Amino acid sequence: MESRDECIARIVRLKAARGAVILAHNYQRGEVQDIADFTGDSLELSRRAAATDARVIVFCGVYFMAESARILNPNKTVLLPEREAGCPLAEMLDAAQLRDWKAAHPGRPVVTYINSSAAVKAESDICCTSSNAASVVESLDAQEILFGPDMNLGAWVQAHTRKRLIVWNGYCATHAWVRPEEILDAKRAHPNAVVVAHPECGPKITALADRVCSTSGMLAFVRSSPAEEFIIVTEAGMLHRLSRDNPGTRFHLGSPRLFCPNMKRTTLASVAESLERMQHEIRVEEGIRLRAARALERMLEVRA
Ligand code: SF4
Repeated sequence: MESRDECIARIVRLKAARGAVILAHNYQRGEVQDIADFTGDSLELSRRAAATDARVIVFCGVYFMAESARILNPNKTVLLPEREAGCPLAEMLDAAQLRDWKAAHPGRPVVTYINSSAAVKAESDICCTSSNAASVVESLDAQEILFGPDMNLGAWVQAHTRKRLIVWNGYCATHAWVRPEEILDAKRAHPNAVVVAHPECGPKITALADRVCSTSGMLAFVRSSPAEEFIIVTEAGMLHRLSRDNPGTRFHLGSPRLFCPNMKRTTLASVAESLERMQHEIRVEEGIRLRAARALERMLEVRA
């Protein structure tokens, strides 16, 4: 059986042979983050995917992320190591539902969270991520906006804009099921810790946080904070990145529920197999791709 070091050596050799770049989301397993060329949140990885010269992009994340990389790079090969790594939040709004929703609210532009399918992006005016959602909403010349599919991110943005958001009722189970008592227990156990939460958490959780931000926002906040201890309320993989970048600082996970099984599907072995067999290639039908690319490119033009 192949050892961990042998598997890493195989990835390094195949990556060079294929002319590949490896992108990994901050929620990936620590060992997968460590072999990636770039780690980041959806916005950072979208920018990386748009700018790369590599012929092959191995996307260690979930399906919609690899699909976004393909939308922005139609001439590159985009591989998702684990074909079944999906995002339940992205599946809570499909293109037919979005068309009906738009018909019920004519004239309102649609802001769609990047956690969505290519077909839903194609029906949208502009995409957003948790880092830039408020800036994207403010950039639009409209007072009423359809926002989906995440209701908790929608509620967070609504609290930071005078515009009126009409919000779809999707949610990320990993973040939405965190209970306030779990955060209160963590605060009691670590009274000096600063609480930092992701806006996919519900309003009762964000109300208990000292800071609410995306994962890239968490990295910047921790770097600039004098605090030495933090309670992190987002997917557990983030603790690896925070600990790696901030040696000596203590991080505690806000709840044992903060674990996304889809993000954890990808392993070193599946990355190596993906490069070895050039699997699983992500493709997007060209008519959908062109319309989805417009929504993503409009987002990338907005300064967060
Ligand atoms: Fe989807 Fe939530 Fe998992 Fe992110 S953490 S991939 S939003 S289910």
